[in-house]
Amino acid sequence: MARYTGAVCKLCRREGVKLFLKGERCFKDKCGFERRSYAPGQHGQGRRPKISEYSTQLREKQKLKRIFGVLERQFKTTFKKAEMAKGITGENLLQLLMRRLDNAIYEMGFALSRREARQFIRHGHILVNGKRVDIPSYLLKSGEIVEIAEKSREMTGIKAAVEGQEGKSIPKWLEVDRANFKGTVVSLPAKDDFMLPVQEQLVVELYSR
Ligand code: SF4
Repeated sequence: MARYTGAVCKLCRREGVKLFLKGERCFKDKCGFERRSYAPGQHGQGRRPKISEYSTQLREKQKLKRIFGVLERQFKTTFKKAEMAKGITGENLLQLLMRRLDNAIYEMGFALSRREARQFIRHGHILVNGKRVDIPSYLLKSGEIVEIAEKSREMTGIKAAVEGQEGKSIPKWLEVDRANFKGTVVSLPAKDDFMLPVQEQLVVELYSR
């Protein structure tokens, strides 16, 4: 399946919830969902059809994939990993998604969206433990240090993201030193860090069919 290249605000409208895919715009009046909170397309404003159990489960999976910008095949692989790990599959799944390098860069406030974080990583602006990592799906471990490469710290996108973070909170599994463009994974994300508008149990049920 190819990567989605259409208007991302349509994805929020399709899922009926803000997925915060567009950086700063998501917090302003310009947000597409704030202006038109109905589904896109010519029937978007009509009566919503009765939703089946399968469809509810499918929508939860789609939401999760869209939030983290993960394609179907990669999502399935992540789900299998979550299933094989000890503990509750749904929680393992969320933890694996949150440990992705692109998510951590976004949560640390070095990018305005996960999409932008992926771009910074692919373009070689990010170091993990002092070594360049250009794989957005790289899974961070506890104790690892993430930083913006010294040469990239003056880049407009990165500077704008850092300056735009005033007053925004950092999840407690991360520690950030914005002045030095550095962040540390202090622990792996736990259940109370999962502040996502998704019922992960429904995704597990979908794959158990
Ligand atoms: Fe979603 Fe952000 Fe677009 Fe609003 S601005 S609809 S939250 S992507």
